[in-house]
Amino acid sequence: MIPSTQIKGESTTINIGKVVCIGRNYFDHVKELGNEVPDKPVLFIKPSTSVIHDGEQIHIPDISQDCHHEIELAVLIGKVGKNVTEAEAMDLVIGYAVAIDLTLRDVQSIQKSKGLPWEIAKGFDTSCPLSDFVPAQKVVDPHNLNMTLWVNDEMRQNGSTSLMMRRIPEIISEASQFFTLLPGDVLLTGTPAGVSQVKSGDSIKAFIEDVGELIVSVK
Ligand code: MG
Repeated sequence: MIPSTQIKGESTTINIGKVVCIGRNYFDHVKELGNEVPDKPVLFIKPSTSVIHDGEQIHIPDISQDCHHEIELAVLIGKVGKNVTEAEAMDLVIGYAVAIDLTLRDVQSIQKSKGLPWEIAKGFDTSCPLSDFVPAQKVVDPHNLNMTLWVNDEMRQNGSTSLMMRRIPEIISEASQFFTLLPGDVLLTGTPAGVSQVKSGDSIKAFIEDVGELIVSVK
């Protein structure tokens, strides 16, 4: 089935394309993983088949014993964009959602240590839960939103999109140098500190001010 979404209050169904993600975009999260602040944006892609929706289940692949949650603001692209300038970038944005970038941290660490790509740790099926999108015009300032994630009602992440080091226009501009952005593509904008493990049976709730709420469970 082709993953699709809707913008709240609109009837059109949007097929989701690629999910372009930025890593290491919040200083406190870079520090908690012992990474360096990158001089260039760290970009990677989750395939559309990684997307699940509110109320659905995460399936952690058997090869991992350490799957982490990362709450992120998701941005929905509504127009074709290639070599977009920062000044033009926000014209491409038609919606926002709550996302969780699920990461097989143990697998990612092995891949990193060997200099290998991260895709199996980041792009596996069910690794990208997304809430419904709200129209972009409903979000007055996407760079000033509180974001909170709970696992089984225990707060694990509590931050603000104001702490992003590279803001949405810069991420769009940078991503569009390499990947033509198409309507239905999604950007994930990075996670604040507090990432931690989720296990079978856990319930995860993620909330971003003005954007919405997302609840998923782990099979
Ligand atoms: Mg992330």
